Amino acid sequence: MNNELHNSWDREHLWHPYTSTIDPLPTYMVDHAEGPYIYLADGTRLIDGMASWWCVIHGYNNPAINEAAKRQIDKMSHVMFGGLTHQPAVELGQELLKIAPKSMHNIFYADSGSVAVEVAMKMAVQAAISRSGDHRKTDFVTIRSGYHGDTWNAMSVCDPVTGMHGAFGPALPVRFFAPQPRCRFGSEWNPDEIKPLEEIIRKHHSTLAALILEPVVQGAGGMWFYHPEYLRQAAALCKEYGIYLILDEIATGFWRTGRRWASEYAGVEPDIMCIGKGLTAGYMTMSAVLTTREVADTISRGEAGVMMHGPTFMANPLACAVALASIRLLESQDVSSRIAHIQEVLRESLAPAASLPAVADVRVLGAIGVVETREPVNVGEFQKKCVERGVWIRPFGRNVYIMPPYIIGDDDLRYLCRQLIEMVSEL
Ligand code: PMP
Repeated sequence: MNNELHNSWDREHLWHPYTSTIDPLPTYMVDHAEGPYIYLADGTRLIDGMASWWCVIHGYNNPAINEAAKRQIDKMSHVMFGGLTHQPAVELGQELLKIAPKSMHNIFYADSGSVAVEVAMKMAVQAAISRSGDHRKTDFVTIRSGYHGDTWNAMSVCDPVTGMHGAFGPALPVRFFAPQPRCRFGSEWNPDEIKPLEEIIRKHHSTLAALILEPVVQGAGGMWFYHPEYLRQAAALCKEYGIYLILDEIATGFWRTGRRWASEYAGVEPDIMCIGKGLTAGYMTMSAVLTTREVADTISRGEAGVMMHGPTFMANPLACAVALASIRLLESQDVSSRIAHIQEVLRESLAPAASLPAVADVRVLGAIGVVETREPVNVGEFQKKCVERGVWIRPFGRNVYIMPPYIIGDDDLRYLCRQLIEMVSEL
């Protein structure tokens, strides 16, 4: 079958993320990828501005991670985790606890970001009931414009307007939503910002298991960077009212924001923490939920006596081996300086976008650059232009953003930003 036939078969039978089967957006056939480049089947080379949705932190086809995957696949790619364990799971766990916030003690390996959020929410409910003996403590509070994944409970804490509450209506549990903190990262803190959240927690803490947040950077719900003081005060409220704090570091973890964990900007430690995406450098689907000894043991002292989750592919050895190689590679470098440099190039290169009539805001934090437009961007048309210009950017709503692999060269990054600005100026 040639590429054109493959493409039309794909169009007829394969669902892509959030697509219509009647009028799907175009897709481009990829042949291979190397470093910061994606090569299409027709030979077109694209500079990747998306790191395949935050994950491909070392670029594609990294020799050290390839080697780790090959070594592991010759031993075993999978073995069940019920009653068995293996070196990749243990060594990855040891490495994770070295770099995680100090209070993290127990690790649950899960399949994807969304599943990590499900597991984290289940942990919070089990622990909250066990700790209080109160079966009403099962609800959640969060902030608007968040995104936590596409599975059931993860959807329930996504933004109630731009998320999937509309499509699923009463099928989704109704959560408590505080307004999105508007006080931006780097601006002066406005003490009024925390009041609505404080009010909800004060009124409803007796039915709340946890507060769930993306720390400092809200990703797919709006690419917004809020003031770390909000997170600091939110964490203090959780302590004061005896509810757990779940931090979803799935997008922000592994240095994307300029710190290893975005929560470091606020100096807070969560009770439960979700990681994914960059965990396996985009090689395999895997996530993890980390928690404190207190939460883990409280669950174990509860009615069920165990953590009630156990997926088939839990701690998949191939994924663990790949994640271990990725973290070792990352931590062997001066990644903090690397991200600071990317941030500088992004700030300088995207600054001219601020004066474009179609642009509402430009913001950069770590290796994330966002150009917010006044009107929603037509994704199909925009991506066609991207491919013509040799770059890969996928806008979402009113946000055109880039979060490249960390290994991207300055010339490629500047070229990406220039193309982005030119395309936005044509909107
Ligand atoms: N949480 C956050 C903050 C995310 O950005 C995402 C993915 N965009 C998820 C959860 C869900 O992860 P996954 O797509 O791997 O299920």
